[in-house]
Order: sequence, then structure tokens, then C-alpha cells
Amino acid sequence: MKSLKFKTVVIGGGPSGANAAKYLASSNEDVLLIEKDLKFDKPCGGGLFLKAFDEFDIPKTVITKVVNTIDIVSPKLKKVSVDISKHPLAIVHRQEFDKTLRDLAVEAGAKLIKAKVVNISTKNEGVRILARQLDGTEITINAKYAIVADGVNSSARVQLLGEHPNRVLTYYANLKDTTSSSCQFWFGDDISPKHYAWIFPHYNGVNIGLVANNKHKMKEFYNNFFKKTQIGGTIPKPKGYFIPHWKRMTLYKDNVFYVGDSASLVLPFTYEGIYYALKSGKLAAQAIIKNNPSEYEKSWNSLYLKKFKFLRTLQTIFLQNNWWIDRMVRLYQHPKFQTAVIEYWSGSREPASLFKTLYKIVRSLIKYS
Ligand SMILES: Cc1cc2nc3c(=O)[nH]c(=O)nc-3n(C[C@H](O)[C@H](O)[C@H](O)COP(=O)(O)OP(=O)(O)OC[C@H]3O[C@@H](n4cnc5c(N)ncnc54)[C@H](O)[C@@H]3O)c2cc1C
Repeated sequence: MKSLKFKTVVIGGGPSGANAAKYLASSNEDVLLIEKDLKFDKPCGGGLFLKAFDEFDIPKTVITKVVNTIDIVSPKLKKVSVDISKHPLAIVHRQEFDKTLRDLAVEAGAKLIKAKVVNISTKNEGVRILARQLDGTEITINAKYAIVADGVNSSARVQLLGEHPNRVLTYYANLKDTTSSSCQFWFGDDISPKHYAWIFPHYNGVNIGLVANNKHKMKEFYNNFFKKTQIGGTIPKPKGYFIPHWKRMTLYKDNVFYVGDSASLVLPFTYEGIYYALKSGKLAAQAIIKNNPSEYEKSWNSLYLKKFKFLRTLQTIFLQNNWWIDRMVRLYQHPKFQTAVIEYWSGSREPASLFKTLYKIVRSLIKYS
């Protein structure tokens, strides 16, 4: 059995883990990145705001499409198109995107190994990890810190804290022969109660899917959705994968940082996770660089807690049933509402206080209904 020693071990080489490793290595930190599948194509629509590429210094060559319009589709199939050209969305192919992020980490000086972490424990102000390579070779790694970045099914979180990230189910499929120039968000109790279904341009065709919290009815919702889209042809076989449903969870404990999906850091309502994975990875790295672990949770909360609570409140109100969704789609017809939502979502406007928001929603409903 091989034995290694690093200051920091990052478990999982998706956006959160790879970005954490990049920022650590860029500051000459001693960091090991462990990824079990270097060809993993994470089930994902692959949409994130274009501005993230500048913020995290990611080459734009990895972008497959840029989207300037989103379509909101009501339960009664009323469609409202929203111009997002001031805050465009980029679409990436996750296999390529994740590889690029890992390459950046390695270029910055991180060590990358392909292995599956099978055990993690904390003791004596440190972390001990057991990883297994494809040929069966086992490696023990002792480190001061671990960054858990192994996604929504995080086995490290289960081992250390006895809980999964909070999550709901998605059903999705990639359709090669269909195109869409917009990102479409479809709402309705028959396709995705309390959440939404989507059609996103993909690197190769479109990605369609839905979020729901009822594993027995996923197939029915999916079939309903496919029929509603009128894409036509045979209904493609869907695949299932969990997506985090944000709730406030432990972000740091006993020398272990939890980032991205492993901490359920996906924005409520929109289910945007890539940006928050990148950002949480960076914030954890910065806390380690400063040797001040508690700074991670503090900076995350000061940047995003209000926004996450705000979006969760909007989701609870507007997606509770078709009546409310209809009101929301009507509100979307008004340019001021569109601008406010896109600015809140993209992070270019601070959310108002909860009380103020509820007041504004009620006032808008009276004004525009
Ligand atoms: C169907 C679907 C569509 C989505 N669409 C979007 C979208 O359009 N836009 C958006 O912003 N978000 C989207 N998301 C959410 C987004 O995919 C995630 O939030 C994001 O991938 C989280 O990044 P991460 O690095 O935390 O985890 P992941 O991307 O899941 O990366 C975890 C990595 O850890 C590795 N790993 C796991 N276990 C181990 C182990 N034991 N040892 C070593 N390595 C391990 C995995 O192989 C993987 O590479 C979508 C999610 C789903 C399910």
C-alpha cells in the first residue's frame, strides 16, 4: 500500500473540487486532487452565466453555445420570452468543461490522481483518506485538510456526517436531432410540481429534463412533459440523477470543508449549481490559504445566504400550484419584473429584504392581474 502526505486533499474533480485545487496550487499550496472518473460526463444542462468565465479565469474556448433568450412556459402553454443579452448564459459540455478545470489545476501545480476515495476519517487535527486505483492499488493519504467535492451522492459526507446532501430527483435525456436557441423553463403541476422542467441547448442537440420530488411519478411527469413539448417521435428513455435541493447544511467541521453539491449549494428555484460549485471551491481554498477555516462558512453566508433564502421563498410562493405559476408568468410579461428577476438571478442586483419582497410581489399581483 502506498502512503502519501499532503496539506490538503480534494475529493472529486468536478467544478467545485477542481477549482479549489486550482486556487490552492496557484498560491503554492501543497494539494492533491483525487477524481475517480476522468471521463465523467456529469448529467447537467451545462448552463452558467458567461461572466463566470472571467471571474474564475476559465478559457471561453470551452463554451459550446451562448444563449441570449430564456422562454418561460406556463401550465396552459403561454410562452413569455425574456431577453437576457445583458447577462447571457454559456452552455458547456460537462466532460470537456470539467477536464479543462482539472487541467488548469494541474498547470497551477496540483497533483491529480485517478482513484476512488473509499474511506475518510478525521483524527488528531487531521484527515486520513483511503483511495483505490483501478488496478486495485490502495493509497493512504494523511492531510491537514480535506475538501469534500464528491457531488450530490457524496459518500464522504455520509461517512463523516451521516447524511446525504439534501436532494430531489431529476429525469433527463439528450436529444441529438432537436435544436433550441433559447433556454426554456416549463412549469406546471402535471410535469414538475413545485419545480420546473427544461429544454436547454446542448453541445449536441438539446438536453431536456425535469425536477420533481415524487419518485413514483417521475415517468408520468416525464411523458407528460415530452408530449407537451411537441418535439415528436419516440419518447427517449430518460435517465435519473439527484440534484441538490438547498437547505442550510454543515460547510466545515473537523478540518473538512464541504463544497458544491456535497453541501447542497445549488440555488433554489433555478437549480443553478455550477457557479456555486466553482465559487464555494474558491472560498474554501482561500480559507485554507489564510489558515483560517472558519472564514469559509462566514464568507459563504455573507455572500449568499440572503440570496438563497430569497430564491427559496420565491420558489415556495410562485411554484406552489398552477394558479400561482400563472400569476408569475403574467408578471414576466412586464419588462421591469423581467429585469429585476434576471438581475437578482445573475447576481448583479442584491435581493431586497424578505418583507419588502413579499410586499412588492403582492403589489405587483394586484397591479398586473
Ligand atoms: C440533470 C441535471 C441538470 C443540471 N443542469 C444544470 C445547469 O444547466 N446549470 C447549472 O449551473 N447546474 C446544473 N445542474 C447542477 C450541476 O450539475 C451541479 O451543481 C454541479 O455539477 C456541482 O459540481 P460539484 O463539483 O459540486 O459536483 P460534481 O460535478 O458532481 O463533481 C463531483 C466529482 O466527484 C467525483 N467523485 C465522486 N465520488 C468520488 C470518490 N469517491 N472518489 C473520487 N472522486 C469522486 C465524480 O466523478 C465527479 O467528477 C444540473 C444537475 C442535474 C442533475
